[in-house]
Amino acid sequence: MKIFNKIRPTRVYLESVSESGKTIGFVPTMGALHEGHLSLLKRSKQDNDITTCSIFVNPIQFNNPEDLEKYPHTLKSDIKVLESLGCDMVFVPSVEEIYPEPETTVYDFGHLDKVMEGKYRHGHFNGVAIVVRRFFEIIRPNRAYFGEKDFQQLIIIQKMVEMLNLDVEVIPCPILRESDGLAMSSRNTRLTSRQRKVAPVIHKTLLNIKTKVRTKPFDEIKKWVKQNINKQPEMKLEYIEIVDKQTLLPISSLDENKRCIACIAVYLGEVRLIDNIKL
Ligand code: AMP
Repeated sequence: MKIFNKIRPTRVYLESVSESGKTIGFVPTMGALHEGHLSLLKRSKQDNDITTCSIFVNPIQFNNPEDLEKYPHTLKSDIKVLESLGCDMVFVPSVEEIYPEPETTVYDFGHLDKVMEGKYRHGHFNGVAIVVRRFFEIIRPNRAYFGEKDFQQLIIIQKMVEMLNLDVEVIPCPILRESDGLAMSSRNTRLTSRQRKVAPVIHKTLLNIKTKVRTKPFDEIKKWVKQNINKQPEMKLEYIEIVDKQTLLPISSLDENKRCIACIAVYLGEVRLIDNIKL
């Protein structure tokens, strides 16, 4: 596996790949890799001749300095995992390599980045869009893989690709879960063993929503979610929203086309966890 820290050698390598007519798949990550990330890489390997990955903890998408500071770093073991999976290239740039100048771009995603995550993490999606676009320019992939775990992020990346007419196919990948239902996340490693035991309540609550939407008004369901989450030790609900999967606009009753998704953000102690379920 090729490991690059700088843009120039990355371009030299990838230009030779493209010139030989091979397709490039790309999985952007912030490292601390788990099976969820690996499922994206496996999918890329199926679809493309060459699979590339980036590991970069993007400072401009963190609205909370403590979250950035405590973000797990496991580069050595990440590289081993990528190698054993047969990833062809990993790009691990420094912050200076990606942002030689301060970034000032401001994207207009309409209300897509104002709701849910956007409402509580100001500037988060602008930072995500900037770094993903930068990586698309560097890697120039044919296909890029994003997890539905970060559903709103996926919709915003799709919107950016459409708005800027970028020549890349965005491939959504399903959420991978632990055996008790907890969505895999790099942040799970920050949970204490007590918190880890409570954490599956998030997915159980989402499964309950899926049943309740058939018979109960959405307002009532959201109240129940708040009570159910907040009564758990160390858990606090940040939001629960039931929205249209494409527009992310709130929905007040189950529509026939089944375009609804329930998205949740929960603090478990100091760790912020997100999850979602299609209804
Ligand atoms: P991150 O390293 O958290 O920025 O995630 C990198 C990519 O992996 C994003 O596209 C995430 O949506 C995806 N991802 C993270 N967790 C999971 C999961 N449990 N299942 C599927 N994809 C995931």
